[in-house]
Amino acid sequence: MDRREQAARTAERLGGLRCLVCGGALTPAPDGFRCGRGHCVNLSRRGTLNFCSKPAPAFYSGALFEARARVLAAGFFAPVLAAVERLLPAAPPEGHRLLDAGCGEGWYLASLLARHPDWTGAGVDLSRDAIRLASRQEAAALWCVADLKRLPFADGAFTAVLDILTPADYRAFLRVLAPEGVLVKVFPGPEHLRELRAARGLPPYEAGDVERYLRARMRVLAAERICVPTPVTPAYWADLAVMTPLNAELSPEAMADLRGRSAGTVTLDVSVAVCARREDECT
Ligand SMILES: [Zn+2]
Repeated sequence: MDRREQAARTAERLGGLRCLVCGGALTPAPDGFRCGRGHCVNLSRRGTLNFCSKPAPAFYSGALFEARARVLAAGFFAPVLAAVERLLPAAPPEGHRLLDAGCGEGWYLASLLARHPDWTGAGVDLSRDAIRLASRQEAAALWCVADLKRLPFADGAFTAVLDILTPADYRAFLRVLAPEGVLVKVFPGPEHLRELRAARGLPPYEAGDVERYLRARMRVLAAERICVPTPVTPAYWADLAVMTPLNAELSPEAMADLRGRSAGTVTLDVSVAVCARREDECT
């Protein structure tokens, strides 16, 4: 099956795609997908879809995602993947339908689909570079350049939305979640990347009130904190420095300085919360 057929089949399993111009259903067409009013979304040669005409912030560049791909391959975030997989509710008979919101280069979704070939998945990210990298993965996921606030999927399309260390749009997520679906939210704790912050003279993360926010709006079914100090080589440290949005504003000189100041260890500190819709939720 080529990538176009694969995209059409995945879209069908997700209950079809939605036209962002008129809200109509998008159906497969020779060059991609088209709605009844003639609006079309072209499918790239790699089987990706672009729902976004405005470019992503320049910081989210190929270099960042390539550094991040090496950090992922080295296993830095493997405990997060393991926790997400462990905490996901049991899949329905036809398998989970996952949305990875802000999927970056698609590592979490591709890893989950590789382990569960009967599951279906879509990954969305604002960055074309990220989606280009994601499409290199073997996974039969539908990779889309799209804004989290305007998701091109049908209401209730997904059994789980993964929101891993990226901004969220809860209203948009609830719309595309099935009634029994869950949001899996991964957010940083106070020790996260402590050594990289210290090397820049920054205080620890403000843990923020993500958890309180979640508890006020959803039912938290499970929550787990992962805190792992990881030994790193100087090259590994440099990749972590480059991939972290924390360092987005650094000048090339300051980045070069930071890359050379490895502390030998970098701490991963995140919480994973699995949340369901509240009974009184009416959106
Ligand atoms: Zn349309």
